[in-house]
Amino acid sequence: MRLLVVEDDPQVARQVSTTLREAGYAVDVAADGREGHFLGETEPYDAVVLDLGLPGVDGLTIIERWRGAGITIPVLVLTARGTWREKVSGLRIGADDYLSKPFEIEELLARVEALLRRSGDHASPMLQAGEVQLDTSTRRVTRAGASVELTALEYRFLAYLMHHRGRVISKAELTEHLYEQNFDRDSNVIEVLVNRLRKKLGAEFITTRRGLGYQLSVDESGG
Ligand code: CA
Repeated sequence: MRLLVVEDDPQVARQVSTTLREAGYAVDVAADGREGHFLGETEPYDAVVLDLGLPGVDGLTIIERWRGAGITIPVLVLTARGTWREKVSGLRIGADDYLSKPFEIEELLARVEALLRRSGDHASPMLQAGEVQLDTSTRRVTRAGASVELTALEYRFLAYLMHHRGRVISKAELTEHLYEQNFDRDSNVIEVLVNRLRKKLGAEFITTRRGLGYQLSVDESGG
């Protein structure tokens, strides 16, 4: 899963991006409104953490422009003031959730996870595909009840597949949601990751749809 953080306070930006990276997400950071708006319009993020008071273009205008352009990306708004007026106008133009500064970093993480679950239509933090379970709140993965150790990249890859299980996902889409903006992308990595996950989670767990991409096995008996 890949996230965008738009925040001009360097200290807050660093704290938020570090926490999200440690939680397994790829994170891009924009320090001003223009860059944040541009990135949200051009890159396929899974969610955005957006400060309202920004140089260039303010947060409310950014949401308004994204929504006007049909971009439905889930947005968690950060507001220093936390006034009801800002909250009401933000929600009216399409923010998905709010957090007032100062906030506890654990609460931000929990809200981002809840946003991702809601956008993927999952009520519970526990994602299941066959005999594989992924708990997004603890980042623990089990296969038939037994713990499976994954690298950070394997976890991020698996989390994206499980959030979109049942759907055929192209290699290009997987690459876009796996890496941060300036990473040198190599689509061969996707094949390597698929092979490693098949070894750890079962050969039948990920199905190759020739010429289209990959799909998780959702058949309970198939694993
Ligand atoms: Ca600010």
